[in-house]
Amino acid sequence: MKKPFANHETLMSIADVYPTPFHLYDEAGIRNTARAVNAAFAWNGGFKEYFAVKANPNPEIIAILKEEGCGVDCSSLTELMIAETLGFRGEEIMFSSNATPADDFIYAKALGAIINLDDFSHIDFLDRHAGIPETICCRYNPGSFGIQNSIMSNPADAKYGFTKEQLREGFLKLREMGARTFGLHSFLASNTLTPDYYPALARTLLETAAWLKAETGIHVAFINLSGGVGIAYRPDERPNDIARIGALVRGVYDEVPASAGLSNPALFTEMGRFMLGPHGCLVAAALHSKDTYKRYIGLDACAADLMRPAVYGAYHHITVSGKENMPADRIYDVTGSLCENNDKFAVDRALPEIEKGDLIVIHDTGAHGYAMGYNYNGKLRSAELLLRADGSVKLIRRAERPEDYFATLTETRFGKQLNEVAKNVRDMLAKSKNTLR
Ligand SMILES: *Cc1c(COP(=O)(O)O)cnc(C)c1O
Repeated sequence: MKKPFANHETLMSIADVYPTPFHLYDEAGIRNTARAVNAAFAWNGGFKEYFAVKANPNPEIIAILKEEGCGVDCSSLTELMIAETLGFRGEEIMFSSNATPADDFIYAKALGAIINLDDFSHIDFLDRHAGIPETICCRYNPGSFGIQNSIMSNPADAKYGFTKEQLREGFLKLREMGARTFGLHSFLASNTLTPDYYPALARTLLETAAWLKAETGIHVAFINLSGGVGIAYRPDERPNDIARIGALVRGVYDEVPASAGLSNPALFTEMGRFMLGPHGCLVAAALHSKDTYKRYIGLDACAADLMRPAVYGAYHHITVSGKENMPADRIYDVTGSLCENNDKFAVDRALPEIEKGDLIVIHDTGAHGYAMGYNYNGKLRSAELLLRADGSVKLIRRAERPEDYFATLTETRFGKQLNEVAKNVRDMLAKSKNTLR
């Protein structure tokens, strides 16, 4: 049985202070996972986990991971700004992007981040706009790979990375342009629930590194296994055992490099989902129940707060706080309020009877949850709260206000008036004892 990391009492007391909906994160869980990851790969002297910022760009969360020794993997200008602000420097930052704007390369280079090139043509582009740094990484797309899933399909159909031949050409070109330290990166499957993904990928990258060494004489100094380690979203799935994955990757390391003349390349990862996914949940209240051809529960959260079910049909486990031990003898569609029929957190889900006001916990939203939020239908994104290791709660991002939604209109004809209207409506609702979050 999947249980929320915060029990009913805790959630009720938090909801007393902070209006629903909100994403809640579990500091103790985040630290435990980071420690388990670092322990699993400690056999590799150069190991570093570069947390994929896109999975959860809240600076307070990333600060916790920094304390645990993680670096960051950024994919955009603003993510790099978060990295700089949190005090990440130089090679503590990986910059893995694609279809990259020149500004992003210029800033990444200025920070001394390790730039991970997505394409052969980006070599000249980077040179023209920022110059070629001494340390460089290239992203490899082998075209086919044994392990697949629905988020990322066959590598040959994916937009990412160099072909093998382009890697050889690219390494030679980069060396000529002044690069001295080389890395190899690949990301071939997402949310894998098998211990075999990282070892298989490590084998592919180490064999490719050996081939590059033979072809160009260039030594690959680091291998970046990127993200893709999955979590058990469903209650019947077995969570990945990161210690076992670490040991299996070690087996591949002990086998391949010795025979290929590689001298123990450093191992990097860029996990997002595995680091954060289970350590967040979306807490919402049941606002309405509706009985037509099906039974619906309408929440005060919607796909603007958590998009994965709507875009991927992704499963997120749901529990009704305080009713964890009651029989799941009702079948509901649990919906948000968007004018989009795919705004459903669950379809035909067996749950205990839900009453209005019940707190609904949507599990595993710590990664690619809040971060994917958007403002369709003029919906405002929720707050983010941190449940600290000492049991206290900290607001780490307030909920959006109408003024935030209108902010990009301030220089237009209607900007000022929109803000006045927002203020008046807030006052009116305050008088009617309602809250505009
Ligand atoms: C999204 C992404 C990650 C993180 O992926 P997870 O599946 O969350 O672990 C890592 N690296 C790159 C380049 C990515 O695009």
